[in-house]
Amino acid sequence: MDSSMIGKIEKAMFYAREPERIHFDKFVAVVQGDHKPHWVSYDHGHWTCDCKFFYGHGVCSHIMTLERILGSSVTPADVSYTMDSGIIGKIEKAIMYAQERERISFESFEASIQGDHKEHKVHYNQGVWSCDCSYFHSRGVCSHVMAFERLLMDAVETAEAIPVPA
Ligand SMILES: [Zn+2]
Ligand SMILES: [Zn+2]
Repeated sequence: MDSSMIGKIEKAMFYAREPERIHFDKFVAVVQGDHKPHWVSYDHGHWTCDCKFFYGHGVCSHIMTLERILGSSVTPADVSYTMDSGIIGKIEKAIMYAQERERISFESFEASIQGDHKEHKVHYNQGVWSCDCSYFHSRGVCSHVMAFERLLMDAVETAEAIPVPA
């Protein structure tokens, strides 16, 4: 591994500790529920899920799971519900799901990350990453992509670095 790559890994660790640098515009993710997988989509603060509970309440355990994982990098679902026992059960489930990271996988997302000098756009689609920085263009990976890999862990596939020509 060359020294420039080591520098990028160090920077990614630093970025991942400052999640307020990261902002999601859109994503599609799958959360494995107790019985079957559910598709959650997010578009500039607007959440949807294909489960039944979502249609009655505007939120569900699957959305709450992603809210827990993504924290301040997304806008929470806009809901007006009464704290009934159904909702409390979903909150408990979301806490459990968020600890079982193998339940979650991202299909695609569009996001931005505040780098040292400027903001960079990072896209992900079915395992394929892109970033608008120059390092990514030459190496296929960069500190910005690695910061998302650290945040999302097993929910995304790892970007493949382009080897330095010998
Ligand atoms: Zn749901
Ligand atoms: Zn980058």
